[in-house]
This record gives sequence, structure tokens and C-alpha cells, in this order.
Amino acid sequence: MSIKSEDVEKFLNANPQFVKSYFSKKLKPGAVASVMGIQESAVDLDSFEQVSQVEEGEIFYDLIKDMQDNVNMEKVIFKILKRISALIHADRCSLFMYRQRNGIAELATRLFNVNATSKLEDCIVSPDSEIVFPLDIGIVGHVAHTKKHINVKDVNEDSHFCTFVDELTEYTTHNILATPIMNGKEVVAVIMGVNKTTGTNFTDEDEDLFLKYLKVGTLNLKIYHLSYLHSCETRKGQLLLWSANKVFEELTDIERQFHKALYTVRAYLNCDRYSVGLLDMTKEKEFFDIWPVLMEEQAPYSGPRTPDGREIIFYKVIDYILHGKEDIKVIPNPPADHWALASGLPTYVAESGFICNIMNAAADEMFSFQSEPLDDSGWTIKNVLCLPIVNKKEETVGVATFYNRKDGKPFDEQDENLMEALTQFLGWSVLNPDTYDKMNKLENRKDIAQDMVLYHVKCRDDEIQNILKTREHYGKEPRDCEEDELLQILKKELPGPRKFEIYEFRFSDFDCTELDLVRCGIQMYYEVGVVKKFQVPQEVLVRFMYSVSKGYRRITYHNWRHGFNVGQTMFTLLTTGQLKRYYTDLEVMAMITAGFLHDIDHRGTNNLYQVKSQNPLAKLHGSSILERHHLEFGKFLLGDESLNIFQNLNRRQTEHVFHLIDIAIIATDLALYFKKRTMFQKIVDLSETYEDEKKWVDFMSLETTRKEIHNIFLFACMAMMMTACDLSAITKPWEVQSKVALSVAAEFWEQGDLERTVLQQQPIPMMDRNKAAELPKLQCGFIDFVCTFVYKEFSRFHPATQPMYDGIQNNRREWKALQEAYEAKLKEAEEAAKANQEAAAAKKAIANANGGSAGSKTCSVC
Ligand SMILES: [Zn+2]
Repeated sequence: MSIKSEDVEKFLNANPQFVKSYFSKKLKPGAVASVMGIQESAVDLDSFEQVSQVEEGEIFYDLIKDMQDNVNMEKVIFKILKRISALIHADRCSLFMYRQRNGIAELATRLFNVNATSKLEDCIVSPDSEIVFPLDIGIVGHVAHTKKHINVKDVNEDSHFCTFVDELTEYTTHNILATPIMNGKEVVAVIMGVNKTTGTNFTDEDEDLFLKYLKVGTLNLKIYHLSYLHSCETRKGQLLLWSANKVFEELTDIERQFHKALYTVRAYLNCDRYSVGLLDMTKEKEFFDIWPVLMEEQAPYSGPRTPDGREIIFYKVIDYILHGKEDIKVIPNPPADHWALASGLPTYVAESGFICNIMNAAADEMFSFQSEPLDDSGWTIKNVLCLPIVNKKEETVGVATFYNRKDGKPFDEQDENLMEALTQFLGWSVLNPDTYDKMNKLENRKDIAQDMVLYHVKCRDDEIQNILKTREHYGKEPRDCEEDELLQILKKELPGPRKFEIYEFRFSDFDCTELDLVRCGIQMYYEVGVVKKFQVPQEVLVRFMYSVSKGYRRITYHNWRHGFNVGQTMFTLLTTGQLKRYYTDLEVMAMITAGFLHDIDHRGTNNLYQVKSQNPLAKLHGSSILERHHLEFGKFLLGDESLNIFQNLNRRQTEHVFHLIDIAIIATDLALYFKKRTMFQKIVDLSETYEDEKKWVDFMSLETTRKEIHNIFLFACMAMMMTACDLSAITKPWEVQSKVALSVAAEFWEQGDLERTVLQQQPIPMMDRNKAAELPKLQCGFIDFVCTFVYKEFSRFHPATQPMYDGIQNNRREWKALQEAYEAKLKEAEEAAKANQEAAAAKKAIANANGGSAGSKTCSVC
């Protein structure tokens, strides 16, 4: 029996299920093409209800090949969505990526409105125009939240539907098919098909097909997600050590630890740029810093504070530029409107301790300061991740801010976790057990070292006989003598006030031995009448002065001679300069003592060198490193009862004396000089408004003024006196100044040599012995920019100090003359060289002209 085509048609119409399964197995583009008599490539399978299994296999194969060839997740998913939209007749399909920021999950559009005819570039959503919604909004959010797929046949009947995106895109959604893409239990993305074009809703078959195709998509998204996690892990595992770099030199020891760790961040996080703001760790302010507040010229700080109560002051910003050419910048004392701080975000993070992840800086009010690009390359802040750096003591030590993830996407949960781990590591590294250990060892060593120091520095019994000759006079030790007996000896042994001109500003130590200087020092305590008044045991006084002289190292400039000169100038300023009138005798004694002690145990190198060479001192003290050391050393000597000239003071007096010595010695750090300048000028200005001298002295020294202000004035004046003393060599007669300047320079050059050999660094011109000829010029600069102010103001304040101002002006002329002579010589030499050159050139020209006429150059061999 033969089957007629009508029968087949009849059968097929009666058995749609068979038709479906038959065509899904057999229908291939080739078969369709041959039936329809067209080319295979022209067959549009999308117009068929379904594609055959075989055909599907080919599509999958094609997709998998794409995945292998191309890791571009968006491209592969785009192809799948395109296919799906054709198969299930969805008007559009979209991909939403799942992520977390600030601990809150959200979905962001990545591929939007894909249909059978879309082009990838029209559908891919750039990071700055993505639509982001939290999980509690919309059906997509609901799907991510429940982790279950959904077929919403009428959105109006689904309570989760939200018209937000429709309104935004001027579209009307009727029905939705959506499914989460999972990696284990984690949601990675959500894929959605919208509006069935050939019916009222998506059918169960559509749903099956949708899920089947998405299996490939899932695989691809998983690979993408895993490779992202993997790269985070590998980046975490990398450790880049920062080799010697000039940035290093600008950092203190602790900052270097930060820097080392932070440089590794480069590998951790793909961002354009990041900066680290380092917070001032001081809890109690220095005298010089609270000055304007005490004076009520400045309101006390009322701004934000760290959780442990510190003022939020970013004293340094290290800026790491990773976009374009890599660079690192160190910005000391950044102003509040510096772009790295202007948003207020770092301050907020330092105050709250929160991690802040800000996605669209352009839309954020905080970043409205960003009216134009922040650097020449046209760079702007787009996304920000800002975290506190907290040490083990739970103190916020800094704030790390990361800008613009390299791929343009916002920072996500991964970044937050990664960076949190990193900043934690950073904070801990600052005070890691290792550092603690070293500090402890240092402390322990200090004890032993102190004993040794005392042994070497303390004036021995045989040494004291050089001055206090009790053996010679009475045949006994000083301790067995009466104070009166000792006084008799000292009257003979001390030089008296006139022999070495200790009352003169022009005093020079050139004709004194070091022992003479010890004697002169002792003499001064008698001159100001404090020995008797404060019951200083005379043996103690002699031992103290002697030990101070021994505490100075035998280095080129910062030796006992310099220490003595500063004490002597303090003595002369107080007496001859009449500044004593403001101070009590006890204060006078403290100030002279501070002068003698101010550079004790100096090493001949400056603060920066201690930092650069990683001297343990730099670890102990953050700023004014050496000055703090001189102070400690001085106090350490005074802590020994046999050297303590303040031993018979009561507690209140002792405290006052040490408070003054603290301020006076720290004040010799020239780095503080500019802070002190304005205060001192104010005092001098104020003094000129008093016509009656007595009233001014009363104002300065008596309780008529409020106690605090009275103290501030006296302290500030003393601080500037210390500077005047420390720099006094510049005011001495030219014969003295010219020699002392050379020894200062010689010590600088020695440091310069050390920098070259030990640190392998090029010293600054001042410390470069190859530039010794520039000394007159450097001296003129030093006089003009630093010194002149001091002595000019003092002469205005107290005319009796005029000799110092005259001295500096005279030396200025001498140095200027030398500078000019040197420059003239230089010019002469230059001109001579130029003339020589010209002569040589002329000679050559003549020779050439002659040679040229001799014939062709190729013949010159003959
Ligand atoms: Zn000094």
C-alpha cells in the first residue's frame, strides 16, 4: 500500500507532537536549503519553531569553540542571548552581573536588550552607564535573592515587578523569563528574557529551552568568575619588593614599611591610582604647636578626631600613579584642598573607621570639587575605595584610597575584602612583633649602654683634681671638704669674669683650652648667683660641667667648644643683653644649662642623615631626632646624683626647670625656627608699644599678665634666644667667623662623604666638598634667609644686643666680597676659555680654508 501525501498531511495535522520531535531531529539548514532550493547560508533557522538536536549540537560546539578562542565573557554570552531570543521569541534578553559593595548585594546591567539582530557593541553596557539595582527591587533582584528561575506570565500580577527600568528606557514589559547563574551556592549573574513576541507569555517549552541554552552560559560565566577569583588570588600571592628609590629617601623608617607594603598593592588591585594619607600620631601637642591656641589667636581644634581621640591631620600623602607612566609622589604637609583629601572622604574614613566604596564619583557631591581633570593626562576620579589603616593598638594610622578600577568597573566585594586584608596587614606591619622586639632590644641595650656612657662621660676623681685641686691644697678628696674650702680653691682656679671676656658678645674660645671652657662655664653659675641661692654642691657643679664637656664627641664642629659657646652666648644675652630681667634666677640657671647641654653627644651628622642611615635614634624619636637625643642625654647626666646641680630644688622647681630645658633644647631644631619666628616678632612688636620700660618688664615677668600668656611669652623668647645662641658664630668678629664657618662646612662635607660612600647618594651642594668654592654664596644665603632676622629682631627688642647685629652685617659684607671675587674669577676663567675656544676655532677655519684649496679630500692620502 502506498501512502499519499494527503495522508501524510492528515497524519501530521493529527499528531503535532510527532511533528515536533521529528523536525527537531531532522531539520538542518542543509535539508531546508535543498527543500526550498536556496543556499544553505541563507536559511534562517530562527523562523522555525525549534531547531533539531543535531543543529543544537552544532550551535553548542560553535559556542564552546568561541569560549576557547575567546575569553571575552560578554561576547560569548551575547551570542547565547542572541540565539535564545530567536528561539524563544523574546523581544529582548539581558545579562545582569551580581556583586557586592559596602556589604550590600546588587545587580548591574552588563548586556542589555539583546535580540536576534543585535550587534554586540550596541548591547554591551559601559561601566558609567550601567543600571544598578539592589536585590530588593524588581524581578531580577528577586531571582538573585531566591536563586530560583522564574517565568512571569504577566508582570502586573507579580508583586516583585518594578517599573523602574521600563520608565528609564521607555519600554513596557509584559512577561519575563529569568534565571540566576550560579557558581556553587553563589549567584554570579542573572539572565532575563522579556516579552514573548509570538504569544502572550513564555511557555514551559520556552523555559526548558532557555535553561538548556543557559547551561553553556553558566559554564562560561563560571569560568569567567573563577578566573577573576583566581587572578585576585595570584595577585595576592605576589610580592614585589621595592628596590632603592628616591621616594625611600623622603620617608621615615616607619613610612618605609608602609611604602614597601603599599607598593605590593600594585599587584593586588587593578586600579589607576591610589594614595595613602598618613595620620599624625601625636596625642599631645608640642609647645610650639599649641602656641597660637594658647594665645587665643586660633580657636582650639574642633574638627573630627580619630576613634582614639587624635586630631585628624594628614601629615603626608604618598600618591601612587599606575595609569600611563608609573610614578610615585610624596606630598609632605598636604593642604586640605589637595585633590587626595578634598573630597573629605579620607577624613571621614579616619574618623569613622568605615570602609567606603563609592561607585560613581562624578555623581557624588563629595567629589564636586573635581571640576576639571586632576593631572595633565586628563585623569579624573571615577570610582573610589577608601579604607582605614589600623595598627594592632587599634589606632588609625592612615587611610588608603584606591581610585578607578583598571577595567572601568566599580570596586566590588572582592576588592573590598582584598584591600581590607591588605590594609590590615599594613597597619600591623607598622607595629609588628618584629619592630616591637627591636625596640625592646634597643631599650635593653640602652640600659647597658647607659652604664657605659656614664662610665666614660662622668668626670673621674683624678679629673676633678684638674679644677677642684683639693688633694693639692688640703690633701683630701672634695667629698671630705667643706663648701667653703671648695669655694676658696675655685676662687683661685676659676678665670673670673674678665680674663676670657665671658660677658662679651665677641667672646672667642680660640685662646682657651677645653678645660678653660669648663672653668668659664662654672664661673658663669657664680656670676648669675645661683650656686648659693639654689644650694648647688660645688663639687657637683664642677663634676657636672666637666662631664658635659666630656659628653661632647671630638668631632669637627659640634664639639664641646660649640656647646660651650651656646651656653656662653645665653649667659651674655641674659646679662649683657639684659634679657635676664624677665626671668627668675632659677630660669636663668635652666637656660644657661640648656645652652651647655644642647648638642651633647652630637654625631656630626644631621637629623636627615639619622633617618637615611636608619640610625636607632630615628626609631626612637619621630621628629627633632637629635635634639631629643641631646635632651635625653642631658637629663640622663642630671639623673645621676653626683652630677645633679638641681638636687636641692623642691619638686615644683625641678619640674619647672626640666620643662624649660625641654623646650629650650628642642627649640634648637632649625626645622622649628620658622614656627618660632612669628611668635617672637609679635613679642618684639608688642614691646615697642610700651614707652615705659618698667611697665613692659612688669608685663613680661610679673603676674599682672595671665599666667599662661606670661609663660608663653617667656618660653617663646627663650626659644628664640636658643636659636640666637646656636647661630651666634655668624655674629662673631670676621677672624672668628671665617674659621668657624670652615669647621661647620668641614663637618657638613664629612657627612656628604658618608652619604656618598655609605648611602651611595649624592649629597646636597652644602655638603658636597667638591662645591667648597660655593661656601661664600651659601653663607650669604644662610645669613639672609635665616640669621639676619634673629639678630635684627633682638637688637630691636634689646638694643644692648646690637653688637651681634653689627657682627652679622659685617660678616655679610665679607662673605659677599668673597662671593663676588669668586664669581669674578669664574667669569674671567669662562671668558678666557671662550677666547681660547674662539682662537682655536679661528685657527681651524684658516687651516680648513688652506686645506680646501689644496684639492679634493680623497687625494689627501697622497
Ligand atoms: Zn648647636
